[in-house]
Amino acid sequence: MPTETVYGLACDAANPLAVARVFEAKGRPRFNPLIAHVTGLDQARKLARLDSRALSLAQAFWPGALTIVAPAMGGQRVCDLARAGLDTVALRAPAHPMAQALLAGFGRPLVAPSANRSGRPSPTTFVDAVTETGEFAAAALDGGPCRIGLESTVVALLDGPPRLLRPGSVTRDQIESLIGPLAEAEGDARRSPGRMARHYAPVAPVRLEAAAARPGEAYLAFGPTAAGPGVFNLSAAGDLAEAAANLFAFLRAADATHPEAIAVAPIPPGGLGEAVNDRLRRAAGHIG
Ligand code: AMP
Ligand code: MG
Repeated sequence: MPTETVYGLACDAANPLAVARVFEAKGRPRFNPLIAHVTGLDQARKLARLDSRALSLAQAFWPGALTIVAPAMGGQRVCDLARAGLDTVALRAPAHPMAQALLAGFGRPLVAPSANRSGRPSPTTFVDAVTETGEFAAAALDGGPCRIGLESTVVALLDGPPRLLRPGSVTRDQIESLIGPLAEAEGDARRSPGRMARHYAPVAPVRLEAAAARPGEAYLAFGPTAAGPGVFNLSAAGDLAEAAANLFAFLRAADATHPEAIAVAPIPPGGLGEAVNDRLRRAAGHIG
């Protein structure tokens, strides 16, 4: 299933057998819960207790690249396995028209983790999605390249202050302007297991903050840089949204040249840069 963030491997959220197959296809650890995708607030309210902060975020950013973690309602509309046994559930209403059509047609939530094998970069094109996990899918929808190219921002709205579990294209500033300061979730790997350090990783080692490539390295550039073999420019214009959209596809393309390492130019930290740098640190195996 295409979404505006990355391609997902989707199935009925209420069907534990189907959910088990998705975990199997990804090689995903069973303790890492899945995001349930919904058409919008009407469906979400049946699945979770949404407080006023959750409602204002959903109203502002849905459909879109924001996932809300909230206390789960009883029942198995999103089955225990999909929630990894937690009493919370992660919800998102994707904006991609094909994802919306699929959800509306199905009429119930679909869990859809990124369609990569676990630990690998998320697929942002149809071909990459089919290459990663297509053999396990009954059908695959080609929605073109993903507009955003990074996984959704994940915010937990439970007891206490809101916590940013995963940065994404909906930025910290956008969220804080609506619901106040976000607490850090660093080291909180059990609460959002996607925060495990090595993640989104290509085969070649990744070297960050590199002003230039060394011999034998591929180079992910940012900003005006001389083109050349092994140079993949995330955004010659220095545009973070363009860099985010290119990131995973270029990590894959660089990896496919079998370099000794992939060197990556410094990426500015603010706004969308927080999410891009988070994915790069994980690709490099550094603790985010
Ligand atoms: P992915 O499906 O690959 O986009 O990853 C989904 C992300 O959402 C992972 O980081 C999960 O750990 C996180 N997530 C899903 N459900 C929950 C939950 N109930 N509580 C905390 N984090 C969650
Ligand atoms: Mg993923």
